[in-house]
Amino acid sequence: MNTPLLQVIDIKKHFAVARGLMGKPTDWIHAVDGVSFHVDRAETLALVGESGCGKSTVGRAILRLISLTEGKVMLNGNRIDNLPSVDLHLIRRQIQVVFQDPYSSLNPRMKVNDLLAEPMRNFGLASMSSEVNARIERLIDVVRLPKDAGGRYPHEFSGGQRQRIAIARALAAEPELLVCDEAVSALDVSVKAQIVNLLQDLQRDFGLALLFISHDLAIVEHMTHRVAVMYLGQIVEIGPKAVIFGAPTHPYTRALLSAVPSVQPGLARNRIILRGDVPSPINPPSGCRFHTRCQFAFDRCKHEEPLLRQRTDGHWAACHLDELATNGACL
Ligand code: SF4
Repeated sequence: MNTPLLQVIDIKKHFAVARGLMGKPTDWIHAVDGVSFHVDRAETLALVGESGCGKSTVGRAILRLISLTEGKVMLNGNRIDNLPSVDLHLIRRQIQVVFQDPYSSLNPRMKVNDLLAEPMRNFGLASMSSEVNARIERLIDVVRLPKDAGGRYPHEFSGGQRQRIAIARALAAEPELLVCDEAVSALDVSVKAQIVNLLQDLQRDFGLALLFISHDLAIVEHMTHRVAVMYLGQIVEIGPKAVIFGAPTHPYTRALLSAVPSVQPGLARNRIILRGDVPSPINPPSGCRFHTRCQFAFDRCKHEEPLLRQRTDGHWAACHLDELATNGACL
């Protein structure tokens, strides 16, 4: 069996939010609480959920921008979450990121040429000026920026073009995995579609794996292979796109999808309105974390946490109803 490119194994990230007199934490935000998944080479996995569900924290933990409270992250079968800082150089090249706001990640005082040359030099991928220039020219072409883009500053471009610069800069490091953290969320609809098409082309041409973190299910439906749905720090359902969008089993996934217009003409989804707000991650509900908003909740849901169980090949959901259905009970 092939080792997945990325394996995330039972990771937890708790942030201290209040400190007592002696500086000891008194409360914790349970931002990520036991999340596991994998991403294969040249695959897109979308990590979706409402704002604050922990999906961006997962991305930041994989990138080693924050440390884990518990769990493991493996890249090509090697553990990377506990690497000392001096050894982070390699994973910084292998895993690149594109954030929502390219302006904050692009140095406004550097021209595009310099922004693209920097990762090549930092990672020792090209040193001769002629080689660097040839690679820059190719990257500008690949991300479909104007040919004269190299001599200009980020502020001279539109939002969509700046995101193309950010993608080109990520590609300059020749990564195996690209983490896209709400990378198209701030863009207009038409520009969004162009960037998504570009990412799909890059995946096909360079064999890139994508971890696509997004709250925008309409975009996710268009571009991903598999989907992991997060609620309050946990994955509640994960599976192939066709299953998650076509026959989701978790009540939360169904509610999220009900708000997305169907791409199939004449097939309208019945809107499911969730009651109440997302509970605080400082003191998440007992049992199933979704029970305070779930229209199907029953007594067991309040006390017993449902585990992710495999429904069909590659499709897992964490809901007691699934278990009852599997056991032949009448729901
Ligand atoms: Fe709803 Fe219970 Fe399933 Fe949770 S376990 S999603 S509360 S039915």
